[in-house]
Parts: sequence; structure tokens; C-alpha cells
Amino acid sequence: MLKFNNNFTNYYLKETEKLVWFKKPKVVIKKNENNHYAWFPDGQLNLYENCISNNLKKRQNKTAIITVNQNKEIRKYSFIQIDKKVNKIANYIKKISPNKKLRVMIHASASLESAVLMFTCAKLGWHFSVIFEELESLGIKNRIKLFRPNIFFSRLSKKKFISKMGFKSYKKIKFIYDEQFKKIINAKGNPKKIENKVVDSPNSLFTLFTSGSTGVPKGITHSTGGYLLYSKLTCQNQFGINENSVVLTASDAGWINGHTYSLFGPLSLGSTTILIEKPISLIDIKLFKKILSLKTSVIYLPVTLIRLIKSLNKNFTINKRYIKTLGSMGEPLAPSVAEWFSNKFLKKDRAVVNTYFQTETGGIICSPRYNQNTNQAPHGSVGQPFSEYIKINKLEKTKVKEIKIISPWPGMMKNVINGKIEWNKYWDKNNNFRLFDLATKRKKNVFIHGRNDDVVNIRGHRVGSEEIESTLLKIKKITECCVVTLNDKLEGSKICLFVVSNVNLDLEIDKMIISNFGTYAIPKKVFYVKQLPKTRSGKILRRLLRNILLNPNLKNYGDTSTILNLSSLKDIQKMVKSDE
Ligand code: AMP
Repeated sequence: MLKFNNNFTNYYLKETEKLVWFKKPKVVIKKNENNHYAWFPDGQLNLYENCISNNLKKRQNKTAIITVNQNKEIRKYSFIQIDKKVNKIANYIKKISPNKKLRVMIHASASLESAVLMFTCAKLGWHFSVIFEELESLGIKNRIKLFRPNIFFSRLSKKKFISKMGFKSYKKIKFIYDEQFKKIINAKGNPKKIENKVVDSPNSLFTLFTSGSTGVPKGITHSTGGYLLYSKLTCQNQFGINENSVVLTASDAGWINGHTYSLFGPLSLGSTTILIEKPISLIDIKLFKKILSLKTSVIYLPVTLIRLIKSLNKNFTINKRYIKTLGSMGEPLAPSVAEWFSNKFLKKDRAVVNTYFQTETGGIICSPRYNQNTNQAPHGSVGQPFSEYIKINKLEKTKVKEIKIISPWPGMMKNVINGKIEWNKYWDKNNNFRLFDLATKRKKNVFIHGRNDDVVNIRGHRVGSEEIESTLLKIKKITECCVVTLNDKLEGSKICLFVVSNVNLDLEIDKMIISNFGTYAIPKKVFYVKQLPKTRSGKILRRLLRNILLNPNLKNYGDTSTILNLSSLKDIQKMVKSDE
């Protein structure tokens, strides 16, 4: 890691003025043992004060949150309404667990309930962890074991939870179910106002489990002050969010985007945020248009959803009047898909804010900015690091290399709750932060080529899986595809391809591969499938596909708790088995 100089500390000290502090920090950063950093160690603040209380003073009746539920019903809640609900639930929990510093697990999707609970915890200085509502029993148990909550809130009813999970109690954990929660927050009358807890900036705010696209779920803990500042700055600079923005971040609450860009960033800037419970429901263009008519100015969607909308709804036009920013999350955004997205929703040559980051980084590391055009940040690139103080290692134009962060940044994770061994894996021998992705750089813009272990190396040709996938997506009949590489004694690697298409495209695929890469990259096998297995945050599970190819007869593929469409796995397994 680089040493922080005066410019670095002056810049961040100045930026801290954008937050509301109980005690302003004088120190920017303190390096502790083993690459643990404390941001603004002498500062004290509260996230709720910044996101809600501060807005009560300026705009209490303004809509803070708009929810779109499973039934596509739209509801609006002002800052003052959110504050009342938070105070009601805070009073209730304080009564049942007086004087305790709690750890709260929230089993809920993007909804009023998850938002109110996350804010209640932030207000009272309780460490929280949101887990996906659709997680199954084993996935929940594993997360409980790691996080050790004293309160577990589920958005399911008690009956449904018990029948689905097969357990109803846990030693030392108080369970609160949906019906009880609703009764409390919808009770008549004004609740007693509870003070916002004064929190030391480095205190743990939340722990979030990573999506599982990269292996076993890991619990990543973020601090309060550094994380909040980073959320706010990246929202302002990359998306152009301000108090007039209406932001649609289509992310589940149990994903980092559902924290940073659905809730904390936008509300800390006084804007309105739209929480959509089932992002997939946006494939209904009528609903999408209804949401746009709420004067939505920022549309930030998972790449997998953009691809789906593109393939399902070819002939629609939308009113672009209010739209200022388009963003994409979670996966590589192929240039052909980016071009369609910007053309359809904004302007042909406007860059898409293709955000590159991880749960571990808290917020965006690299992305184009909302006001850049494609000459400045070409489609397919993830733009540049968000500020001159986010330094990455030197990348090259043609040779793919692992991308690393070589200077500390405020959104950096504070800890990994799985333990020191997992924490240590993130740091290389020079104490730089490893992102485990491969990248190149052209004219200052960074291009991500997939995970370290997804690189294709055939007869000495090295090419990122992402590059092959992007190229194949130019074939109109392919909605989605995924390259999986397997070791091969003779050639180094061999490519297998999973393609979502109901017609055989072998000839077109070979032609496209030969003209873009050469014969060496022709896939050894193409599987045509109905869907690809994805995580609940919309990422294709490459690790699992590789595992199926290697062991088609396995009964257990490890942690599958974050898979959205488990049935797709079974279909693929059958297909691979019959090919043996
Ligand atoms: P997660 O922490 O679950 O959000 O996963 C982070 C990983 O998703 C990154 O390390 C990348 O492998 C991948 N990823 C996220 N955003 C992008 C992007 N814009 N382009 C390519 N890969 C991405």
C-alpha cells in the first residue's frame, strides 16, 4: 500500500464536511495491525442522523422511499413517516432487550420493512446483517452461526417461516416475524422519540455476506464513517445524484448495492429512492414505464436484467424526459448491450455508469461518470477509478493482469467475520488489496476480463472469459452465455460454452470465434440451455457450472444457498451427464 501524504489527508478531511458529525474528526486514517485501517478514528457520528434526521429538518414531507412490492403496487413514504416507523420499532426492541448492544439479522428483500429495520439498527448503533428473503434453511443456519445475532427478524409470517425452515427457535435469539413487525410499525399514535446513538466512526455498521459467485459465503463487515462518506461521494460523483434525484437501484436488500446505492447513499443526499422487491418484474414494460413516470432520473440495473429486457421487449419506446443517468451492476456489460441500453433509455453516445466494485470495497472503485460520453469512456469499459486518491496498480493495454487497489479508501471493509485466514487472502505481499479480477487499461479506461480463475489459456493464448462472452453476445439469437474453462493436458485449457438459446447456433458461434480470436478458441462443447444458474444478485454462477462439468454425478455441489433458479442446475446436470 502507498503511504498517505498530505494531499490525501487534506482531501478526505475536506470531504468529511459533507457529513453531519457529532464530533468532527481531526485524523483521517489510522493503520492498525495486519492491514486493518480505522477511518476518521476520532470522529463520532450516526448514519441515521445523516440519512433521515438531517432531512427531517429540511424536507420532512418529501418522499424518501417509494416501494414497489411483489404485486407491483407502488407506495410512497416521506422522511417523517419513515422516522415514525423507525421510532416505533426502536421503542419495541429496546423494551424487549433493554440496555443491550444488539446484533440484528434481517431476513428480507428490498422493502419498507428491510429499510426501516436497517435504519433502526443504524439509529441505535446496533450491528446488522441483511440476508436474502429466499434463502433456504441451511443457508440461514450457516449465516446465523457466523454472525451470531441476538435478534432475528423475518419478513415471513411465523407459520410460513417455521414450515419452510424446519426450526422456530435458537438459543439466545429473539425471533420477530412479519405480522408482529407490521402491527408495531402500523400502530396508531406518535411514538416516543429516541435519540440517535453517538457512534465512533470506525464502529461496525453492518456485515454482508458475499453473493457466493466466488465460493463459500463470507461475512464482510463495514465501518460507519468511512463507509457512509464513500457511499455519499460515489453517489454524487459517479451517478450525479442530488436532492432532486429519484433513484431506481434495482437490487435486493441483501446485496451491497441494496445498501450503498438503494438506501444510504441516495438518502444521505436527500433524494428519493425506489425499492423494488422483485427487480425481475421490470421485464413488464408497463410497470417499468409506470416507475419512470415517478420522475425517475437514475436507472441502475443488474446486467443480467438489462440483457433480459433487451431480449424480451424489442419494440418499446419510453419517455426519456426525466432520465439523467443509466447504470449497470454486478457483471461485465458487453458493449452491444450497453449500446442498446443507452440508445433506448437516454442517448446513443452517453456512457453507462458500468460500476465495478465488490461487497468488500463498499462502493464503486471504477466506473464511467454519468455525464461522460462514449469517447471519454467507451462502452464495455468500467471507466477510471472514482477519484485520484483511489489508486490501482499499473495495468497494461494488451496483457491481462490482476487488478489491485494500492491505496486505502474510506469504503474498504473493516473485517471478515470468517476469521484471519480469509482476511489475509485479500492482501498480497506488498499489502495491496487483491480484487481477484483480471483487467487491462486503454486510454486511461479500465476493462475487466473476468475472475482470475476464469482466464482461458489455450496453447499460450491468454484471453478473458468475459471477452469471449461479450463477442458472442453480438449474435442476436444469444440472450446469455457463459464460458467455462477446464484444464487440458495438451492445450492448457479447453472451453465449454453454455448458451441460452432455443436453436442450435454452432456454425455462427464458430464463425464469430474464428474471426475475433482464432481457431484455438473454438469451444470444445456447446450446451444449449433454458437458463443459466444465477445468484440472487444476478450473477452467473461460473464456479458451479465448472463443478458440474468436472463432476456431473455429484449429489452435493457445496453451498448453493444463494442460487436463484435451482431448477436450472438440475437441467444442466442432466444435460452434461447425458453427454458423457
Ligand atoms: P459481489 O461482491 O458479489 O458484488 O461481486 C463482485 C464481483 O463481481 C467482482 O469482483 C467482479 O468479478 C464482478 N463484477 C462486478 N462488477 C463488474 C463489472 N462492472 N464488470 C465486470 N465484473 C464485475
